[in-house]
Amino acid sequence: MNEVFPQGHAWLDGKFVELSKAKIPILDWGFLRSDATYDVVHVWKGRFFRLDLHIERFYKSTQKLRMPCQMSKDELKKILAGCVKKAGLESAYVEMIQTRGVSPNFVRDPRQATPRVMAFAVPFGWILKQEDFEKGLNVLLTDIKRIPPSSVDPTIKNYHWMDLVTGMLNAYEKGNDTAILVDENNNITEGPGFNLFCVDETGIFTPDHGVLEGITRQTVFDLAKELNILISKKPISIEQLRNAKELFATSTAGGIMPITKVNSKLIADGKAGEMTHKLHKLYWDKHDDPGWSTLISDILMN
Ligand code: PLP
Repeated sequence: MNEVFPQGHAWLDGKFVELSKAKIPILDWGFLRSDATYDVVHVWKGRFFRLDLHIERFYKSTQKLRMPCQMSKDELKKILAGCVKKAGLESAYVEMIQTRGVSPNFVRDPRQATPRVMAFAVPFGWILKQEDFEKGLNVLLTDIKRIPPSSVDPTIKNYHWMDLVTGMLNAYEKGNDTAILVDENNNITEGPGFNLFCVDETGIFTPDHGVLEGITRQTVFDLAKELNILISKKPISIEQLRNAKELFATSTAGGIMPITKVNSKLIADGKAGEMTHKLHKLYWDKHDDPGWSTLISDILMN
């Protein structure tokens, strides 16, 4: 089968390359052991959204993995902007990655490997397409347990996705749009590429632990503050999920997205809720606010 690549461009081993040419050695620990961290930021109409928060999280992740990124933040920003420019994209999904790299003679000591940084830009992608917003997501509530934080620190954005991918396969087989996973206490965690929020009569809440601290999740907290909406971090039980007034997912890949069905059963009246609409509108309004977004051309000029 021919590999088909989306419109895009990459940066690897010190230079910009076409996506189809962006390849890593088979002995890279990132490939063989999922020993890597990454981050994804989006570009909307020529502007990065909250780039500094993504860059901060990425550098922190590389530190927590004991392979602190050696490149300067400004250099990385230029590389990301360069990928978008070379790809000729107005709106893009932009990923930066650092793998552990290759160790000499493939010795089993990760400290001896030389980390490798890479990046690429492809067209903006949606977990829930804009035109399906009112319909919302129909999620499968799986009994798959998300990898516990005592095994893999979920605040390090990572490629340990076997639990999430199994959830996606189960969901697609059953005709759902995506899946959500639980923790060891059967509380709700997150899904493949998104955090979850529940709205009930007490306010809005999202799991306080065992999940990636999503930048869109943080953005919801910042927007709620502006709107004077009560918001907190605390566990979501399965019962609270089923009886919610509103549910929504948050991700760099699509923003704030209503969940209107769980296991094909309606949540409340099965429509995207008032709170979700309000946050969604303000979220997109912020995309051309210079306090929240950065022009690609400004990064390339500096
Ligand atoms: N949870 C997981 C496991 C993710 O992989 C992602 C993003 O890819 C998210 C949550 C959402 O994070 P963000 O809002 O930073 O995109």
